[in-house]
Amino acid sequence: MNLKIPTKTQLPLYKASPTLEPINTRQTQTARRVYIETYGCQMNVSDSELMSGILTQNGYEMVDQLEDANVVLLNTCAIRENAEEKVLNRLVHLHHRKKRQSDLVLGVCGCMAQHMKTKLIDAAPYVDFVLGPDAYRNLPMAINSVTIGDPFLGLKLDKGEDYADIAPIRVEGIRAWLTIQRGCDKMCTFCIVPFVRGRERSIPMQLLVDDVKRLVDEGFKEVVLLGQTVNSYNDGTHNFGDLLFGLSEVEGIERIRFTSPHPSDATDDLIEAMASCDKVCNYIHLPLQSGSTRVLKAMRRTYTAEAYRELVAKMRARIPNLAISTDVIVGFCGETETDFMETYNLMAEIRYDSAFMFKYSSRDGTLAHKTLDDDVSEVEKGRRLKEIIALQESVSHETNQRLIGEVVTVLVEGESRKDPDRYQGKTDGFKTTVFPKANSEVGDLVRVKVESTTAHTLIGSITK
Ligand code: SF4
Repeated sequence: MNLKIPTKTQLPLYKASPTLEPINTRQTQTARRVYIETYGCQMNVSDSELMSGILTQNGYEMVDQLEDANVVLLNTCAIRENAEEKVLNRLVHLHHRKKRQSDLVLGVCGCMAQHMKTKLIDAAPYVDFVLGPDAYRNLPMAINSVTIGDPFLGLKLDKGEDYADIAPIRVEGIRAWLTIQRGCDKMCTFCIVPFVRGRERSIPMQLLVDDVKRLVDEGFKEVVLLGQTVNSYNDGTHNFGDLLFGLSEVEGIERIRFTSPHPSDATDDLIEAMASCDKVCNYIHLPLQSGSTRVLKAMRRTYTAEAYRELVAKMRARIPNLAISTDVIVGFCGETETDFMETYNLMAEIRYDSAFMFKYSSRDGTLAHKTLDDDVSEVEKGRRLKEIIALQESVSHETNQRLIGEVVTVLVEGESRKDPDRYQGKTDGFKTTVFPKANSEVGDLVRVKVESTTAHTLIGSITK
């Protein structure tokens, strides 16, 4: 496994608590080799890196093959029902493995663990421990407690937990994910996140500046700032705009991205930072969710369709060549054909570079599940989804086509998956670009003349 071993000052992993001693008694008897399987979003990828940091610091070895492990951790997602079903199916498979490998320890971590709580143990009694997103410091203790017999449960949400003192272990590459904020205070009615990740908290800016300096030393060229509503970042002294300006000052970092912002927190400070800091990419993922103000209100999205439209216009006026992507949900509770057409028309008007589009699926534990009727039929949800996908495919294709003949700047990430003679990387606007290697190297910023496109990729050659 190609890992970046961090040089961050190592602080105690455990908060002062008489019950949380970093004991490794079992590990002294058997070398513990841990395999982490990650599901869901980039926050989870970042959390898995954090877990690797905690475990490595406690003497565990991380492995990248399930076959080599005697501890398997599933870092799970709860955002959609099928994400949980996938993990439950995976657990059945791992149960078979556990029967053959008597020392195998099996832990379920992350959002689904927090969402299902003891129901997870009811569904899969062979699971050894269940840890929510604020309980990862307990990982060594959870693994060691397996000898006791009862499943270990770490499910307390903790507003004070930001893991700021822990050095994550990252897989080598040129792009690093950096969590700057945890939790969410927004309470959108369709979303489970506030219930499984708790209240919002931000890591102090100075620690993040130091983190980015360390990432540069480790060879990373690009950093992606992560948060559930990343632009509501506030450490008590600095807002998100301040953070972007501060991180731009770090020598050696070439690009700064962030995901996912909330439209209501897209302040003038943020727009100004994007417009004036060269290292901050001209790209924003700005979730729309619905183009109907009535539906947005039912979703508790805290903005209207008109305010969203004005925000996009303001950003485009101030930030030339801004690329925008979005998330859209169709078939939310009470969504009429008129509401849907408002979404369709707003998407057609804004012309996103790309979009993640979903049918609404009610999640147990959310406000919508408790208080609203999931009254749009599956067939109707499917039809609406198909229509916006067709619209977006054609817009994405046209947007890419317009780049033919243009020169884009690409950060070289590695070999193209389809052709070892080519490199691939992303433009400033986060478009995947493929080109012959010429004399370039991974980590270089190169100028590529676009010669052709597919719906999702630019194809070209390096130019001066
Ligand atoms: S802003 Fe809304 S959708 Fe995003 S994580 Fe928070 S509650 Fe969920």
